[in-house]
Amino acid sequence: MGRVPRRNRMKALGIAHIGIAVSDMDGILKIIEESFGLKCNFRNKLAEQGIEIAKIILGDSSIELLKPLNSDSVIQKFIDKRGAGLHHISLAVDDVEAYINHLENSAIEMIDKIPRTGADGRRIAFIHPKSMGGILIELEERHSE
Ligand code: ZN
Repeated sequence: MGRVPRRNRMKALGIAHIGIAVSDMDGILKIIEESFGLKCNFRNKLAEQGIEIAKIILGDSSIELLKPLNSDSVIQKFIDKRGAGLHHISLAVDDVEAYINHLENSAIEMIDKIPRTGADGRRIAFIHPKSMGGILIELEERHSE
């Protein structure tokens, strides 16, 4: 049994989801359904984060709509600053912890230095946008079958 080369171990598996900040969740869901025939697969309020999430699953990826529930919500702050639209890109990886170590060794700044549990129970971590050319990137752990 040979060792897995390091560069292969550190390759992202694909796009887990695209996160989009919205003000009008019902309106956007209607547009997406009418335009692309895609329905919302689940909708969930994360009261402690002040966010409502809706997910539209598309193959192995999904579209994650994020609506602020109050003015203190990070999503409301994002919309105030940059407007509604693309909020983050989530990349699927096989081991979030290994990725955090790998990125920190490359002087990439993490928002989450320790993985946390995301809306659908998977381990996630956010990378600071200042290390990624202004783009907020999330890592989401997926276990390959
Ligand atoms: Zn996300």
